[in-house]
Amino acid sequence: MASVVHVTSEVVPYSKTGGLADVSAALPEALTRLGHRVVVVTPMYSIVDRASQGIRPTGLRFPVSLGTRSCDFAVFQSELPAGTVVYHLECDEWYGRSELYGTREGDYPDNHLRFAFFAAAALRLVRELDLRPDVIHGHDWQAGLVPAFNRLNPVGSAGVVMTVHNLAYKGLFDSGAVSEVGLPWDMFRPGQGGEYWGRLSFLKTGLVFADAVTTVSPTYASEVLGPEGGMGMDGILRDLGDRFSGILNGADYGAWDPSIDTWLPARYDRANLSGKSVCRSHLLETFGLSEPNGPLFGIVGRLVAQKGYDMVAACLDDLVASGGALVVLGSGDLAVEESIRDAAGRHPGRVGLRFTYDEGLAHLIEAGSDYFLMPSRFEPCGLNQIYSMRYGTLPIVHATGGLEDTVRDIDEVPSGGTGLKFRSFESSELACAIRRARALWDDRDAMARAVQCAMLQDFSWEKSARLYGELYQRVAR
Ligand code: ADP
Repeated sequence: MASVVHVTSEVVPYSKTGGLADVSAALPEALTRLGHRVVVVTPMYSIVDRASQGIRPTGLRFPVSLGTRSCDFAVFQSELPAGTVVYHLECDEWYGRSELYGTREGDYPDNHLRFAFFAAAALRLVRELDLRPDVIHGHDWQAGLVPAFNRLNPVGSAGVVMTVHNLAYKGLFDSGAVSEVGLPWDMFRPGQGGEYWGRLSFLKTGLVFADAVTTVSPTYASEVLGPEGGMGMDGILRDLGDRFSGILNGADYGAWDPSIDTWLPARYDRANLSGKSVCRSHLLETFGLSEPNGPLFGIVGRLVAQKGYDMVAACLDDLVASGGALVVLGSGDLAVEESIRDAAGRHPGRVGLRFTYDEGLAHLIEAGSDYFLMPSRFEPCGLNQIYSMRYGTLPIVHATGGLEDTVRDIDEVPSGGTGLKFRSFESSELACAIRRARALWDDRDAMARAVQCAMLQDFSWEKSARLYGELYQRVAR
Protein backbone atom coordinates (compact mmCIF):
# COMPACT_ATOMS: atom_id res chain seq x y z
CA MET A 1 0.00 0.00 0.00
CA ALA A 2 1.25 3.46 -0.88
CA SER A 3 1.52 6.68 1.06
CA VAL A 4 0.12 9.40 -1.20
CA VAL A 5 -0.25 13.17 -0.94
CA HIS A 6 -2.82 14.76 -3.26
CA VAL A 7 -2.25 18.42 -4.10
CA THR A 8 -5.42 19.98 -5.44
CA SER A 9 -7.03 23.42 -5.64
CA GLU A 10 -10.61 22.37 -4.85
CA VAL A 11 -12.16 19.62 -2.75
CA VAL A 12 -15.79 18.83 -1.98
CA PRO A 13 -17.31 19.76 0.47
CA TYR A 14 -14.97 22.69 1.15
CA SER A 15 -14.63 24.35 -2.24
CA LYS A 16 -15.87 23.59 -5.74
CA THR A 17 -16.14 25.06 -9.21
CA GLY A 18 -16.49 21.77 -11.12
CA GLY A 19 -15.74 18.08 -11.36
CA LEU A 20 -12.17 18.46 -10.04
CA ALA A 21 -13.58 19.08 -6.57
CA ASP A 22 -15.67 15.89 -6.70
CA VAL A 23 -12.71 13.82 -7.85
CA SER A 24 -10.36 15.40 -5.28
CA ALA A 25 -12.51 14.03 -2.49
CA ALA A 26 -13.79 10.78 -3.99
CA LEU A 27 -10.48 9.42 -5.29
CA PRO A 28 -8.53 9.98 -2.04
CA GLU A 29 -11.42 8.47 -0.09
CA ALA A 30 -11.55 5.40 -2.35
CA LEU A 31 -7.77 5.00 -1.96
CA THR A 32 -8.12 5.31 1.82
CA ARG A 33 -10.77 2.60 1.79
CA LEU A 34 -8.39 0.33 -0.15
CA GLY A 35 -5.83 0.76 2.64
CA HIS A 36 -3.51 3.40 1.17
CA ARG A 37 -2.28 6.19 3.45
CA VAL A 38 -3.72 9.31 1.87
CA VAL A 39 -3.49 13.00 2.63
CA VAL A 40 -5.02 15.88 0.66
CA VAL A 41 -3.54 19.39 0.61
CA THR A 42 -5.66 22.30 -0.58
CA PRO A 43 -5.83 26.10 -0.18
CA MET A 44 -7.91 27.51 2.65
CA TYR A 45 -10.08 29.97 0.73
CA SER A 46 -11.78 32.52 2.93
CA ILE A 47 -15.16 31.39 1.52
CA VAL A 48 -14.72 27.94 3.11
CA ASP A 49 -17.17 27.41 5.94
CA ARG A 50 -14.69 26.28 8.60
CA ALA A 51 -17.04 25.82 11.50
CA SER A 52 -19.58 23.59 9.79
CA GLN A 53 -16.89 21.54 8.01
CA GLY A 54 -14.97 20.66 11.16
CA ILE A 55 -11.82 22.49 10.08
CA ARG A 56 -9.45 23.13 13.01
CA PRO A 57 -6.13 24.95 13.37
CA THR A 58 -3.14 22.63 13.79
CA GLY A 59 -0.97 25.36 15.29
CA LEU A 60 1.59 24.74 12.52
CA ARG A 61 2.75 27.83 10.65
CA PHE A 62 5.69 28.28 8.28
CA PRO A 63 7.07 30.81 5.80
CA VAL A 64 7.46 30.07 2.09
CA SER A 65 9.74 32.10 -0.18
CA LEU A 66 9.54 32.32 -3.96
CA GLY A 67 11.48 34.77 -6.11
CA THR A 68 11.65 37.95 -4.08
CA ARG A 69 8.52 37.28 -2.01
CA SER A 70 7.85 35.47 1.20
CA CYS A 71 4.51 34.51 2.77
CA ASP A 72 3.39 32.85 5.96
CA PHE A 73 1.11 29.84 5.79
CA ALA A 74 -1.04 28.57 8.64
CA VAL A 75 -2.13 24.93 8.50
CA PHE A 76 -5.65 23.74 9.28
CA GLN A 77 -6.96 20.20 9.32
CA SER A 78 -10.17 18.26 8.75
CA GLU A 79 -11.14 14.71 7.81
CA LEU A 80 -13.33 13.30 5.04
CA PRO A 81 -15.83 10.59 6.05
CA ALA A 82 -13.57 7.58 5.32
CA GLY A 83 -10.78 9.18 7.35
CA THR A 84 -8.67 10.89 4.67
CA VAL A 85 -6.88 13.81 6.32
CA VAL A 86 -7.21 17.15 4.54
CA TYR A 87 -4.73 19.94 5.23
CA HIS A 88 -5.92 23.43 4.38
CA LEU A 89 -3.22 26.02 3.72
CA GLU A 90 -4.20 29.48 4.83
CA CYS A 91 -2.62 32.63 3.45
CA ASP A 92 -5.12 35.46 3.15
CA GLU A 93 -3.00 37.40 0.72
CA TRP A 94 -3.58 34.64 -1.86
CA TYR A 95 -6.81 32.88 -0.90
CA GLY A 96 -8.81 35.53 0.96
CA ARG A 97 -10.96 36.31 -2.08
CA SER A 98 -14.61 35.98 -3.05
CA GLU A 99 -13.91 33.31 -5.70
CA LEU A 100 -11.42 30.49 -6.27
CA TYR A 101 -9.80 31.60 -9.52
CA GLY A 102 -11.43 34.80 -10.68
CA THR A 103 -14.61 36.76 -11.13
CA ARG A 104 -16.92 37.12 -14.14
CA GLU A 105 -14.61 39.89 -15.31
CA GLY A 106 -11.74 37.45 -15.63
CA ASP A 107 -9.10 35.44 -13.79
CA TYR A 108 -7.24 36.99 -10.88
CA PRO A 109 -4.11 38.56 -12.40
CA ASP A 110 -1.84 37.10 -9.70
CA ASN A 111 -2.98 33.48 -10.14
CA HIS A 112 0.60 32.50 -11.01
CA LEU A 113 1.72 33.62 -7.56
CA ARG A 114 -1.34 32.21 -5.80
CA PHE A 115 -0.77 28.73 -7.17
CA ALA A 116 3.03 28.76 -7.27
CA PHE A 117 2.91 29.50 -3.54
CA PHE A 118 0.32 26.76 -3.16
CA ALA A 119 2.60 24.17 -4.82
CA ALA A 120 5.63 25.28 -2.81
CA ALA A 121 3.67 25.39 0.47
CA ALA A 122 2.23 21.91 -0.14
CA LEU A 123 5.73 20.47 -0.54
CA ARG A 124 6.93 22.38 2.51
CA LEU A 125 4.05 20.91 4.52
CA VAL A 126 4.99 17.39 3.45
CA ARG A 127 8.48 18.06 4.76
CA GLU A 128 7.32 19.79 7.99
CA LEU A 129 5.04 16.87 8.84
CA ASP A 130 7.66 14.35 7.75
CA LEU A 131 4.99 12.53 5.73
CA ARG A 132 7.53 10.67 3.54
CA PRO A 133 5.07 9.86 0.77
CA ASP A 134 5.79 7.29 -1.93
CA VAL A 135 3.89 9.47 -4.37
CA ILE A 136 2.86 13.10 -4.65
CA HIS A 137 -0.16 13.43 -6.90
CA GLY A 138 -0.92 16.88 -8.36
CA HIS A 139 -4.12 17.87 -10.13
CA ASP A 140 -4.42 20.31 -13.03
CA TRP A 141 -2.42 23.47 -13.70
CA GLN A 142 -2.99 24.83 -10.20
CA ALA A 143 -0.67 22.08 -8.91
CA GLY A 144 1.45 22.21 -12.07
CA LEU A 145 4.62 23.49 -10.39
CA VAL A 146 4.72 20.62 -7.88
CA PRO A 147 6.83 18.32 -10.11
CA ALA A 148 9.29 21.10 -10.99
CA PHE A 149 9.68 22.33 -7.40
CA ASN A 150 10.11 18.73 -6.29
CA ARG A 151 12.95 18.28 -8.81
CA LEU A 152 14.65 21.39 -7.49
CA ASN A 153 14.32 20.36 -3.87
CA PRO A 154 13.11 16.74 -3.65
CA VAL A 155 10.86 15.62 -0.82
CA GLY A 156 12.60 12.34 -0.05
CA SER A 157 12.29 9.87 -2.89
CA ALA A 158 8.62 10.47 -3.77
CA GLY A 159 7.51 9.87 -7.36
CA VAL A 160 5.24 12.55 -8.84
CA VAL A 161 2.01 11.92 -10.75
CA MET A 162 0.06 14.67 -12.52
CA THR A 163 -3.57 14.28 -13.54
CA VAL A 164 -5.00 16.50 -16.27
CA HIS A 165 -8.70 16.99 -15.70
CA ASN A 166 -9.05 19.32 -18.66
CA LEU A 167 -6.37 20.20 -21.18
CA ALA A 168 -8.12 23.45 -22.06
CA TYR A 169 -6.84 25.02 -18.84
CA LYS A 170 -3.13 25.43 -19.35
CA GLY A 171 -2.30 27.93 -16.61
CA LEU A 172 -0.67 30.40 -19.04
CA PHE A 173 1.24 33.44 -17.83
CA ASP A 174 3.63 35.94 -19.38
CA SER A 175 7.24 34.84 -19.27
CA GLY A 176 7.99 37.39 -16.53
CA ALA A 177 6.22 34.93 -14.22
CA VAL A 178 9.16 32.53 -14.51
CA SER A 179 11.38 34.53 -12.16
CA GLU A 180 8.44 35.74 -10.06
CA VAL A 181 7.55 32.15 -9.14
CA GLY A 182 11.19 31.22 -8.61
CA LEU A 183 11.66 28.80 -11.52
CA PRO A 184 15.16 28.64 -12.94
CA TRP A 185 15.23 29.66 -16.62
CA ASP A 186 16.47 26.25 -17.72
CA MET A 187 13.10 24.83 -16.63
CA PHE A 188 11.48 27.21 -19.14
CA ARG A 189 13.19 25.64 -22.16
CA PRO A 190 11.05 25.07 -25.26
CA GLY A 191 10.32 21.36 -25.62
CA GLN A 192 11.58 19.98 -22.35
CA GLY A 193 10.49 22.87 -20.09
CA GLY A 194 7.42 24.88 -19.20
CA GLU A 195 7.65 27.27 -22.16
CA TYR A 196 4.52 27.36 -24.32
CA TRP A 197 4.59 29.73 -27.31
CA GLY A 198 6.72 32.21 -25.40
CA ARG A 199 4.65 32.03 -22.22
CA LEU A 200 4.90 29.97 -19.06
CA SER A 201 2.35 27.14 -18.85
CA PHE A 202 1.92 25.69 -15.37
CA LEU A 203 0.21 22.67 -16.94
CA LYS A 204 3.02 21.95 -19.38
CA THR A 205 5.57 22.40 -16.58
CA GLY A 206 3.64 19.73 -14.69
CA LEU A 207 3.53 17.37 -17.65
CA VAL A 208 7.22 17.51 -18.51
CA PHE A 209 8.56 17.17 -14.97
CA ALA A 210 6.17 14.49 -13.65
CA ASP A 211 7.09 10.82 -13.51
CA ALA A 212 3.67 9.82 -14.84
CA VAL A 213 0.71 11.71 -16.26
CA THR A 214 -2.90 10.59 -16.36
CA THR A 215 -6.10 11.98 -17.67
CA VAL A 216 -9.62 11.09 -16.72
CA SER A 217 -10.92 8.71 -19.38
CA PRO A 218 -9.36 6.30 -21.88
CA THR A 219 -11.06 7.91 -24.90
CA TYR A 220 -9.95 11.42 -23.91
CA ALA A 221 -6.42 10.01 -23.40
CA SER A 222 -6.39 8.89 -27.03
CA GLU A 223 -8.11 12.04 -28.35
CA VAL A 224 -5.52 14.36 -26.80
CA LEU A 225 -2.71 12.64 -28.71
CA GLY A 226 -4.10 14.19 -31.90
CA PRO A 227 -3.85 17.84 -32.99
CA GLU A 228 -7.51 18.69 -32.38
CA GLY A 229 -7.98 17.08 -28.95
CA GLY A 230 -4.43 17.91 -27.87
CA MET A 231 -5.05 21.66 -27.99
CA GLY A 232 -1.39 22.36 -28.53
CA MET A 233 -0.16 19.81 -25.98
CA ASP A 234 -0.47 16.70 -28.18
CA GLY A 235 3.25 16.59 -29.04
CA ILE A 236 4.22 16.80 -25.38
CA LEU A 237 1.76 14.06 -24.47
CA ARG A 238 2.93 11.83 -27.33
CA ASP A 239 6.52 12.30 -26.11
CA LEU A 240 5.48 10.90 -22.73
CA GLY A 241 4.87 7.51 -24.36
CA ASP A 242 3.77 4.94 -21.80
CA ARG A 243 4.14 7.46 -18.97
CA PHE A 244 0.75 8.82 -20.09
CA SER A 245 -2.54 6.94 -19.62
CA GLY A 246 -6.28 7.44 -19.11
CA ILE A 247 -8.11 6.24 -16.00
CA LEU A 248 -11.87 6.76 -15.94
CA ASN A 249 -13.26 8.86 -13.11
CA GLY A 250 -15.80 7.25 -10.85
CA ALA A 251 -18.88 8.63 -9.17
CA ASP A 252 -19.29 9.18 -5.47
CA TYR A 253 -22.54 7.32 -4.89
CA GLY A 254 -22.42 8.37 -1.26
CA ALA A 255 -23.32 11.86 -2.49
CA TRP A 256 -25.09 11.03 -5.76
CA ASP A 257 -27.69 8.31 -5.27
CA PRO A 258 -31.43 9.01 -5.27
CA SER A 259 -32.13 6.42 -2.57
CA ILE A 260 -30.12 8.39 0.03
CA ASP A 261 -30.01 11.91 -1.45
CA THR A 262 -31.09 14.32 1.27
CA TRP A 263 -31.38 17.22 -1.21
CA LEU A 264 -34.46 15.61 -2.78
CA PRO A 265 -38.09 16.14 -1.75
CA ALA A 266 -38.61 12.37 -2.16
CA ARG A 267 -36.12 9.52 -2.44
CA TYR A 268 -36.41 6.57 -4.79
CA ASP A 269 -34.65 3.56 -6.22
CA ARG A 270 -34.92 1.17 -9.16
CA ALA A 271 -37.67 -0.87 -7.55
CA ASN A 272 -39.91 2.10 -6.83
CA LEU A 273 -39.68 5.18 -8.98
CA SER A 274 -42.64 7.04 -7.52
CA GLY A 275 -40.26 9.44 -5.76
CA LYS A 276 -38.86 10.43 -9.15
CA SER A 277 -42.29 11.75 -10.20
CA VAL A 278 -42.42 13.77 -6.99
CA CYS A 279 -39.00 15.25 -7.81
CA ARG A 280 -40.16 16.02 -11.37
CA SER A 281 -43.22 17.93 -10.15
CA HIS A 282 -41.11 19.74 -7.58
CA LEU A 283 -38.58 20.67 -10.26
CA LEU A 284 -41.26 22.05 -12.61
CA GLU A 285 -42.71 24.02 -9.72
CA THR A 286 -39.29 25.35 -8.69
CA PHE A 287 -38.81 26.77 -12.18
CA GLY A 288 -42.44 27.90 -12.49
CA LEU A 289 -43.12 25.64 -15.47
CA SER A 290 -46.35 23.80 -16.21
CA GLU A 291 -46.44 20.11 -17.12
CA PRO A 292 -45.09 19.75 -20.69
CA ASN A 293 -46.60 17.42 -23.31
CA GLY A 294 -43.22 15.83 -23.79
CA PRO A 295 -40.06 15.07 -21.84
CA LEU A 296 -38.36 17.39 -19.39
CA PHE A 297 -34.72 18.01 -20.29
CA GLY A 298 -32.18 19.16 -17.70
CA ILE A 299 -28.80 20.87 -17.82
CA VAL A 300 -26.33 21.48 -15.01
CA GLY A 301 -22.89 22.75 -15.83
CA ARG A 302 -20.34 25.46 -16.10
CA LEU A 303 -21.44 27.84 -18.84
CA VAL A 304 -18.34 27.68 -21.02
CA ALA A 305 -17.91 27.13 -24.76
CA GLN A 306 -16.63 23.58 -24.11
CA LYS A 307 -20.02 22.38 -22.92
CA GLY A 308 -21.79 22.99 -26.26
CA TYR A 309 -24.74 24.89 -24.77
CA ASP A 310 -24.73 27.24 -27.79
CA MET A 311 -25.95 24.18 -29.68
CA VAL A 312 -28.75 23.65 -27.18
CA ALA A 313 -29.79 27.26 -27.81
CA ALA A 314 -29.77 26.52 -31.56
CA CYS A 315 -31.96 23.41 -31.03
CA LEU A 316 -34.32 24.94 -28.50
CA ASP A 317 -37.09 25.59 -31.04
CA ASP A 318 -37.02 21.88 -32.02
CA LEU A 319 -36.99 20.82 -28.38
CA VAL A 320 -40.02 22.91 -27.56
CA ALA A 321 -41.78 22.04 -30.84
CA SER A 322 -41.57 18.37 -29.88
CA GLY A 323 -43.48 19.14 -26.69
CA GLY A 324 -40.47 19.22 -24.39
CA ALA A 325 -39.44 21.63 -21.66
CA LEU A 326 -35.96 22.53 -20.44
CA VAL A 327 -34.43 23.55 -17.13
CA VAL A 328 -30.92 24.99 -17.00
CA LEU A 329 -28.65 25.53 -14.01
CA GLY A 330 -25.27 27.01 -14.79
CA SER A 331 -22.82 29.74 -14.05
CA GLY A 332 -19.87 31.14 -15.92
CA ASP A 333 -19.41 32.88 -19.23
CA LEU A 334 -21.77 35.81 -19.80
CA ALA A 335 -21.87 35.28 -23.58
CA VAL A 336 -23.04 31.66 -23.14
CA GLU A 337 -25.61 32.85 -20.60
CA GLU A 338 -26.90 35.47 -23.07
CA SER A 339 -27.28 32.99 -25.94
CA ILE A 340 -29.36 30.66 -23.74
CA ARG A 341 -31.39 33.57 -22.37
CA ASP A 342 -32.13 34.88 -25.88
CA ALA A 343 -33.30 31.49 -27.15
CA ALA A 344 -35.36 30.89 -23.99
CA GLY A 345 -37.06 34.28 -24.42
CA ARG A 346 -38.88 32.85 -27.43
CA HIS A 347 -40.50 30.12 -25.29
CA PRO A 348 -42.02 31.58 -22.15
CA GLY A 349 -43.24 28.93 -19.74
CA ARG A 350 -41.25 26.14 -21.44
CA VAL A 351 -37.71 26.95 -20.37
CA GLY A 352 -36.52 27.60 -16.82
CA LEU A 353 -33.19 29.28 -16.21
CA ARG A 354 -31.03 29.72 -13.11
CA PHE A 355 -27.68 31.36 -13.69
CA THR A 356 -26.07 30.59 -10.39
CA TYR A 357 -24.27 27.85 -8.49
CA ASP A 358 -26.69 25.74 -6.45
CA GLU A 359 -25.72 22.30 -5.14
CA GLY A 360 -29.22 21.30 -4.04
CA LEU A 361 -30.81 22.36 -7.30
CA ALA A 362 -28.19 20.37 -9.22
CA HIS A 363 -29.38 17.25 -7.37
CA LEU A 364 -33.04 18.07 -8.01
CA ILE A 365 -32.40 18.49 -11.75
CA GLU A 366 -30.60 15.14 -11.86
CA ALA A 367 -33.58 13.51 -10.19
CA GLY A 368 -36.52 15.37 -11.70
CA SER A 369 -35.56 15.49 -15.38
CA ASP A 370 -36.35 12.77 -17.92
CA TYR A 371 -33.21 13.48 -19.93
CA PHE A 372 -29.90 15.15 -19.08
CA LEU A 373 -28.31 17.15 -21.90
CA MET A 374 -24.53 17.10 -22.21
CA PRO A 375 -23.59 18.02 -25.77
CA SER A 376 -19.98 18.91 -24.92
CA ARG A 377 -17.61 19.78 -27.78
CA PHE A 378 -15.07 17.73 -25.85
CA GLU A 379 -15.36 16.19 -22.40
CA PRO A 380 -12.37 14.74 -20.52
CA CYS A 381 -14.67 12.56 -18.40
CA GLY A 382 -17.81 14.35 -17.30
CA LEU A 383 -19.55 13.42 -14.09
CA ASN A 384 -23.09 14.63 -14.57
CA GLN A 385 -23.90 12.02 -17.22
CA ILE A 386 -22.73 9.35 -14.77
CA TYR A 387 -24.79 10.82 -11.93
CA SER A 388 -27.84 11.19 -14.17
CA MET A 389 -27.85 7.48 -15.04
CA ARG A 390 -28.02 6.58 -11.35
CA TYR A 391 -31.00 8.94 -11.04
CA GLY A 392 -32.80 7.23 -13.96
CA THR A 393 -32.36 10.35 -16.08
CA LEU A 394 -31.10 9.31 -19.50
CA PRO A 395 -28.10 11.31 -20.72
CA ILE A 396 -28.05 12.75 -24.23
CA VAL A 397 -24.39 13.22 -25.09
CA HIS A 398 -21.92 14.02 -27.83
CA ALA A 399 -19.87 10.84 -28.28
CA THR A 400 -16.56 12.28 -27.12
CA GLY A 401 -14.06 11.62 -24.31
CA GLY A 402 -15.60 10.24 -21.14
CA LEU A 403 -19.11 10.64 -22.56
CA GLU A 404 -18.21 8.01 -25.17
CA ASP A 405 -16.77 5.75 -22.45
CA THR A 406 -19.72 5.89 -20.07
CA VAL A 407 -22.95 6.06 -22.13
CA ARG A 408 -24.38 3.31 -24.37
CA ASP A 409 -26.80 4.46 -27.06
CA ILE A 410 -30.24 2.85 -26.94
CA ASP A 411 -30.25 2.24 -30.69
CA GLU A 412 -26.67 0.98 -30.89
CA VAL A 413 -27.21 -1.38 -27.92
CA PRO A 414 -30.97 -2.01 -27.95
CA SER A 415 -31.00 -4.43 -25.01
CA GLY A 416 -28.57 -2.44 -22.85
CA GLY A 417 -28.74 1.21 -23.88
CA THR A 418 -28.34 3.79 -21.13
CA GLY A 419 -28.76 7.04 -23.07
CA LEU A 420 -28.55 8.69 -26.48
CA LYS A 421 -25.43 9.72 -28.35
CA PHE A 422 -24.76 11.83 -31.40
CA ARG A 423 -21.47 11.45 -33.19
CA SER A 424 -20.85 14.61 -35.12
CA PHE A 425 -20.86 17.93 -33.31
CA GLU A 426 -23.63 19.65 -35.25
CA SER A 427 -26.91 21.09 -34.10
CA SER A 428 -28.81 18.97 -36.65
CA GLU A 429 -27.36 15.89 -34.92
CA LEU A 430 -28.38 17.12 -31.49
CA ALA A 431 -31.85 17.95 -32.83
CA CYS A 432 -32.07 14.40 -34.18
CA ALA A 433 -31.09 12.99 -30.76
CA ILE A 434 -33.78 15.16 -29.14
CA ARG A 435 -36.37 13.76 -31.58
CA ARG A 436 -35.24 10.21 -30.79
CA ALA A 437 -35.56 11.07 -27.10
CA ARG A 438 -39.13 12.22 -27.64
CA ALA A 439 -39.97 8.98 -29.52
CA LEU A 440 -38.46 6.88 -26.73
CA TRP A 441 -40.40 8.84 -24.12
CA ASP A 442 -43.62 7.94 -26.00
CA ASP A 443 -42.69 4.25 -25.91
CA ARG A 444 -43.21 3.80 -22.17
CA ASP A 445 -41.91 0.21 -22.04
CA ALA A 446 -38.72 0.94 -23.93
CA MET A 447 -38.16 4.07 -21.83
CA ALA A 448 -38.66 2.13 -18.60
CA ARG A 449 -36.20 -0.54 -19.77
CA ALA A 450 -33.56 2.08 -20.56
CA VAL A 451 -34.12 3.80 -17.20
CA GLN A 452 -33.65 0.48 -15.39
CA CYS A 453 -30.52 -0.24 -17.36
CA ALA A 454 -29.08 3.23 -16.68
CA MET A 455 -29.76 2.97 -12.95
CA LEU A 456 -27.95 -0.36 -12.83
CA GLN A 457 -24.68 1.09 -14.12
CA ASP A 458 -21.91 1.05 -11.58
CA PHE A 459 -19.15 3.62 -11.96
CA SER A 460 -18.06 3.52 -8.34
CA TRP A 461 -14.54 4.66 -7.62
CA GLU A 462 -13.09 1.41 -6.34
CA LYS A 463 -12.06 0.02 -9.73
CA SER A 464 -10.42 3.28 -10.82
CA ALA A 465 -8.73 3.71 -7.43
CA ARG A 466 -7.15 0.27 -7.89
CA LEU A 467 -5.75 1.41 -11.24
CA TYR A 468 -4.25 4.49 -9.54
CA GLY A 469 -2.85 2.15 -6.88
CA GLU A 470 -1.08 0.13 -9.59
CA LEU A 471 0.27 3.34 -11.12
CA TYR A 472 1.59 4.48 -7.71
CA GLN A 473 3.46 1.18 -7.41
CA ARG A 474 5.13 1.84 -10.75
CA VAL A 475 6.24 5.41 -9.95
CA ALA A 476 7.21 4.94 -6.27
CA ARG A 477 10.97 4.77 -6.04
P1 ADP B 1 -16.55 20.07 -15.23
O1 ADP B 1 -15.53 19.49 -14.32
O2 ADP B 1 -16.04 20.33 -16.62
O3 ADP B 1 -17.22 21.26 -14.65
P2 ADP B 1 -18.07 17.65 -14.70
O4 ADP B 1 -19.28 17.08 -15.34
O5 ADP B 1 -16.87 16.75 -14.60
O6 ADP B 1 -17.70 18.99 -15.46
O7 ADP B 1 -18.42 18.11 -13.21
C1 ADP B 1 -19.29 19.14 -12.94
C2 ADP B 1 -19.64 19.12 -11.47
O8 ADP B 1 -19.96 20.46 -11.07
C3 ADP B 1 -20.87 18.30 -11.16
O9 ADP B 1 -20.79 17.80 -9.84
C4 ADP B 1 -21.99 19.34 -11.28
O10 ADP B 1 -23.14 18.97 -10.59
C5 ADP B 1 -21.34 20.56 -10.70
N1 ADP B 1 -21.85 21.85 -11.18
C6 ADP B 1 -21.49 22.51 -12.30
N2 ADP B 1 -22.15 23.68 -12.40
C7 ADP B 1 -22.97 23.76 -11.32
C8 ADP B 1 -23.91 24.74 -10.84
N3 ADP B 1 -24.17 25.86 -11.51
N4 ADP B 1 -24.56 24.49 -9.68
C9 ADP B 1 -24.30 23.35 -8.99
N5 ADP B 1 -23.44 22.40 -9.39
C10 ADP B 1 -22.76 22.59 -10.54
